[in-house]
Amino acid sequence: NRRILLATRPDGRARQSDFELVETAIPAPKEGEVLLRNTLISMDPYQRNLMGNGSSELPPMELGTPMSGPTVAIVEESHNPDFAKGDYVQTWTGWQDYAISDGSDLRTLDPGMAPLSTALGVLGHTGLTAWVGMTKYLDDMPGGTFVVSAAAGSVGSMVAQMAKLRDHRVVGIAGGARKIAYLRDEIGVDAAVDYKADDFEAQLARALPDGVDRFFDNVGDYMFEAVMPHFNLNAQAVICGTIAGYSDTGLPDRRDHLPRLLNLILYRFIQVRGFSILDHLDSYPAFLEEVAPWVTAGRIKYREEFIEDFERIPETFLTLFEGGNTGKLIARVG
Ligand code: NDP
Repeated sequence: NRRILLATRPDGRARQSDFELVETAIPAPKEGEVLLRNTLISMDPYQRNLMGNGSSELPPMELGTPMSGPTVAIVEESHNPDFAKGDYVQTWTGWQDYAISDGSDLRTLDPGMAPLSTALGVLGHTGLTAWVGMTKYLDDMPGGTFVVSAAAGSVGSMVAQMAKLRDHRVVGIAGGARKIAYLRDEIGVDAAVDYKADDFEAQLARALPDGVDRFFDNVGDYMFEAVMPHFNLNAQAVICGTIAGYSDTGLPDRRDHLPRLLNLILYRFIQVRGFSILDHLDSYPAFLEEVAPWVTAGRIKYREEFIEDFERIPETFLTLFEGGNTGKLIARVG
């Protein structure tokens, strides 16, 4: 049973040496439990917060324990009447080969419905995050300008396409020419802005002649600061992620934009809300009912990137913080 443990807490940017690969015995399930073998393992930005950092309010995981996170697993042995050997489930068993569950955290998957990997992306927690943010934290409005950051990523690309389905004019922000082309040519945004370009703020201003009505932010920090001045009256922002700050050891030592934000909230009636997908896991059925047909019909496109080596999970996870991925990162280990 291979497991990847958190060995040390990073000071700033996480490194491969913060993890340790160990081999342990395969655990034995008791009455009411199942033995799970992971076949697909997801790598997600929030796992950086679990390692401990200066900006997160999440309790960090304990040193010496395996990284937790979303997985697809097969039931190898069952002592629970609700699951049979050979069932596929979506669960949160993290970076290891085998785990035990009492069944309460398992979602049974139908491998005939969609590729199993979609249960970790477009039809899994990242798709659900996009859908929850859009449907529960931003009021619907006809038309208007919609901005999404980390727009070429797993959550962001889904948000951009949902916003198009809602007839918004969609502006996607991402880093580098390859992602800009992907946003324009495949995701179908109305304008794509490269935040890594020297003229980022000028590009953004050109893409926003009518201001911003809705902002779905996956980045935080300087990204929110750049979009903020463009807010229209009654604009709404949802803070889904602040990946730009996940490696910060404290608050950045820069000009303080808080008075500006408070003035915008007061004089332009801006609403800013955050959310955690963990509070919305019971929305899976409603989410799948709406989104699965869009995916089957090709109205929502998605990308997945696979690695085949369990050992490469830490180094691949770290590329998330440099924009190395386009779409959902998954390790195929079974
Ligand atoms: P992505 O597929 O979007 O991958 C992360 C992307 O973030 C990278 O590809 C990179 O894209 C971008 N990025 C990384 N560092 C920076 C930076 N310093 N500045 C700007 N962009 C950066 O990951 P996910 O779709 O899984 O997650 C997207 C966001 O949603 C994350 O912030 C995550 O924490 C958040 N999230 C929140 C949830 C919630 O419950 N609120 C649940 C799930 C995810 P680029 O090449 O464009 O730089």
